[in-house]
Amino acid sequence: MIFKICIGALIVCALFVHGKHGMSKERQKTRIETKRLLVPLLLFLTFDVLLLLYFFTSRLDGFRISFPNWIRWLGVVLLFGGDAILFLAHSALGRNWSLAPEIKENHTLVVSGIYKKIRHPMYSAYLLLGLGFLLSSANWLIGFLFLIPIATICLRRIGVEDQMMLEKFGDEYREYAKRTGALIPKLR
Ligand code: SAH
Repeated sequence: MIFKICIGALIVCALFVHGKHGMSKERQKTRIETKRLLVPLLLFLTFDVLLLLYFFTSRLDGFRISFPNWIRWLGVVLLFGGDAILFLAHSALGRNWSLAPEIKENHTLVVSGIYKKIRHPMYSAYLLLGLGFLLSSANWLIGFLFLIPIATICLRRIGVEDQMMLEKFGDEYREYAKRTGALIPKLR
């Protein structure tokens, strides 16, 4: 029960951080093709139904993994870390944020805050949230159903976004990429 409360609260926090910045008045209105959103939207809906079953019924108990409590708490810590990174990344990226990779009007290259050492902190945050969710929920069905699409989308997006930013910002981005890590800070 305690784990369900922690997971629920931390997922709501993550959605709140996204919502707060996503709905921000400063944000430029952009049109995203419905086709590009269809698969994420379907995944999101399927996942919502399973989440409701997980939180409010015992129907998914057959998929339980017998993790010791410390592993589940570690999962909660990862969820918390994911939320914190998401918040820092949103604060630094400001109006340059978008759901799908795109270059906006007056797009600026952010190289400060959490972006100083990592190029894709939001994707690191999603991976932490995915892993944290698997460990804390101790349920392989919803755990992997969350983690696998997240990991696939994030890892694919890194290449697409790096290429897009390189085309837009050229040498500035090339230099930036050299001194940063994609998902883990480059420490020198
Ligand atoms: N990949 C980043 C951002 C995800 S949001 C992360 O994981 O934190 C996606 C949008 O952010 C993309 O459309 C891209 O244009 C923009 N973006 C990514 N890195 C950026 C940067 N360093 N400065 C400005 N915009 C950036």
